[in-house]
Amino acid sequence: MLKPDAAVPVDQQFVLSNLAPGPVQKRLALGIVIGLVVALYLISGPFAGIHLGAVNAFIAIYATAIFVTDAVTAILLYAQFSILRSRAILVIASGYLFMALIIIGYTFAFPGLLAPNGLIGDLQTSAWLYVVWHTVFPMFVVAYALTKEDSSARPWPGKASTAIGWGIAATAALAAAAIYVAVVWEAELPVLMLDQLRFSPSWPYLVGAPIATVCIAAIVALWVRRRSVLDLWLMVVMCLYLVEVPLSYYPAPTRFSTGWYAVRVVGFLSSSLVLTVLLYEITTLYAKLLNAVQGQRREREARLLTGDAVAATIAHEMRQPLTAMITTADAGFRFLDRAAPNVEKAKEAFRRITADGHRAGTLVGSIRANFKSDVTERTSFDLNDLIEEALSLGGSELQKHRILVQAEPNRQIPPVNGNRVQLQQVLLNLIMNAVDAMAAREEPRVLSVKSAPYDGDRVVVSVADTGNGIGSIDAERLFNPLFTTKSGGMGMGLSICRAIVEAHDSRLWFTPNSPQGAVFQFTLPASAAPAAG
Ligand code: ADP
Repeated sequence: MLKPDAAVPVDQQFVLSNLAPGPVQKRLALGIVIGLVVALYLISGPFAGIHLGAVNAFIAIYATAIFVTDAVTAILLYAQFSILRSRAILVIASGYLFMALIIIGYTFAFPGLLAPNGLIGDLQTSAWLYVVWHTVFPMFVVAYALTKEDSSARPWPGKASTAIGWGIAATAALAAAAIYVAVVWEAELPVLMLDQLRFSPSWPYLVGAPIATVCIAAIVALWVRRRSVLDLWLMVVMCLYLVEVPLSYYPAPTRFSTGWYAVRVVGFLSSSLVLTVLLYEITTLYAKLLNAVQGQRREREARLLTGDAVAATIAHEMRQPLTAMITTADAGFRFLDRAAPNVEKAKEAFRRITADGHRAGTLVGSIRANFKSDVTERTSFDLNDLIEEALSLGGSELQKHRILVQAEPNRQIPPVNGNRVQLQQVLLNLIMNAVDAMAAREEPRVLSVKSAPYDGDRVVVSVADTGNGIGSIDAERLFNPLFTTKSGGMGMGLSICRAIVEAHDSRLWFTPNSPQGAVFQFTLPASAAPAAG
């Protein structure tokens, strides 16, 4: 609904005095003015002359409510000045403070409210204070419109608190002076009230004309320099002031008529308008802040999760070649440590360590490629060879747990196309998971790795075990990163496998084995080219 003004710096685009009003706000403002004018003249017109009598409680509530709303509006605007350092905001904040202070004098002077003739001043005092209130505030609005800076203006250079202090002091002095004149020089001032009830015939010239003039001046000034939401609503306030003028006098120039009470209602509405908009703005800003904080938190969590996933992936992928290197190095030592060292076997061990080292290096590269979603290097190769290599890499573990391996090569399948290192990693992961699942189980422990043509132009590989199988609940989370049921598990293996297989435009899925265990299957695209040597 609110659109930031394009000419305003980004960090200041969220405040009322800088936001450009949207069409909805403009229509709402116009609607309020027209609606109120029509409603008030319709309601009060025929009944305006009816004398309702003095309801002191109403006047007390009216004065207190206006004092509170004006004071709170002033505080919020001063606070906004301390952020924006805009002279215009300081001026309008002081305008609201002026109103709040004058209303104190008005309440004290109003006859019959705190004392029969008012606590301070005499017959004319409260009427003149009403005039001061309704002429000086529009002057503050004119000053606000004239001091409105464009976006290139320098913010107030001094300390905000000093400026606010001076603003409050000057405004208080002005209000005190106005109250002093209305009280002490009451007898010298032109007559506005004939008695406590009736307005003097000069009211339209002494009250109506000056108020209308300054209000129109304020509306023109705001219209010419209008840009922000605050300008729009101040214009509405000035329009409501204009509505008050004739309504106070016509058709019955007396206090406590229906028209007089209607004017108080309009007065309260106009006094609370900017406060309502300020509160709306604060709530909107609060919601935006909350959103921003939540967004930041989500982003941080996502970054941490990615960091966790990278760390877990590296640890997971590197564990296997490193373990193999340590085991082979131990074996190499033993070959050399004998009374008659077996140099050939030791050399073979070193060759395997070198091969494992290279494999680890390639793995690091492929992990990086995975996280960068790079297009990885693809070749055409025979899947039977890959299965054999993966089984031999997992060979020591398979032997250790006395697992029977069924893996007859299938010569019917075409060569496949893919990243050899990554796919070897997938197979090895599935084989090691099968080993883990069967390690603690009674015999028979059977691992069956098969391949077969699939869907015309594909090949399917299945890794089946007779391990403890996977429950239906776990089966749903199986491929989630960091899901594991093992005490030393990382929970990254299957999620990496799935990511790799999907990067090959293929699928990896799980089915239960019969009578027990698990079967993992994945497809791969067949290659048109013959397998590379
Ligand atoms: P990790 O092996 O580190 O736990 P994985 O992502 O490879 O991580 O596996 C996740 C979980 O899936 C394992 O903890 C295990 O509970 C289950 N799982 C995977 N493969 C098998 C299998 N062949 N048999 C039974 N459970 C398995």
